[in-house]
Amino acid sequence: MNNIYSKGAILLLSGPSGCGKSSLLKEVYKVIDNYYFSISTTTRAPRVGEKDGVDYYFVSKEEFTQDIENGNFLEWAEVHGNYYGTSLKPINQALLDSKLVIFDIDVQGFEQVIDRLSAITTTVFITTPSIEELEKRLYNRATDSKEVIEKRISNAKLEIEYIDKYDYFIVNDNLEIASDQLVSVAKSSLIKASLYNKSEIISNWN
Ligand code: ADP
Ligand code: 5GP
Repeated sequence: MNNIYSKGAILLLSGPSGCGKSSLLKEVYKVIDNYYFSISTTTRAPRVGEKDGVDYYFVSKEEFTQDIENGNFLEWAEVHGNYYGTSLKPINQALLDSKLVIFDIDVQGFEQVIDRLSAITTTVFITTPSIEELEKRLYNRATDSKEVIEKRISNAKLEIEYIDKYDYFIVNDNLEIASDQLVSVAKSSLIKASLYNKSEIISNWN
């Protein structure tokens, strides 16, 4: 990261499950080296191919509740009937290491992060061109049952109501165009003015 006064920044992505957040992030990882993708903790069952400690930390409901009671989460929420949360400790460390910390969290988590860390956070809402396209992608991905997909589709209609609360909005129609847009936002998130310590900058500058 280039800025010399701030310690890290956050890039927060939200958008309906299946809109392409993970696919788009792969392009960001190619151009930004010093990043940390926040691995969430969840009570959801792992999908085929998902690994504990890589995609998520998969825990029981009891373990999750214990983490809430111990104040271990920066934010947490119930999404599509499962619990998801962001652990504070690795985030603090990554920020101290001046990394770009990337969150893929839902709209409830977004509100909690903005309440606590808005000065260092850039937010982007991502979606598909239509709900039909979202449904198609979820079925093509073939990782969830029909019942789970239907729940995600009905939640998507509620999530889309939040778009105007975010800094940026990306429609992931053409993957290449949307990736370029997300890369631009990621680069901009590193030079957000409120990341900097104004008095230090002015005293050095004078
Ligand atoms: P999310 O991380 O938001 O849940 P994924 O990145 O897993 O979404 O994408 C969901 C599915 O849609 C995947 O099968 C992915 O290959 C596909 N996909 C992603 N972006 C596009 C796109 N622009 N056009 C068509 N399919 C896409
Ligand atoms: P999935 O089950 O498809 O991996 O994720 C479902 C939803 O949970 C997505 O909208 C994703 O952004 C959200 N999510 C993943 N991790 C977290 C988290 O730590 N906190 C919150 N609030 N939402 C999360």
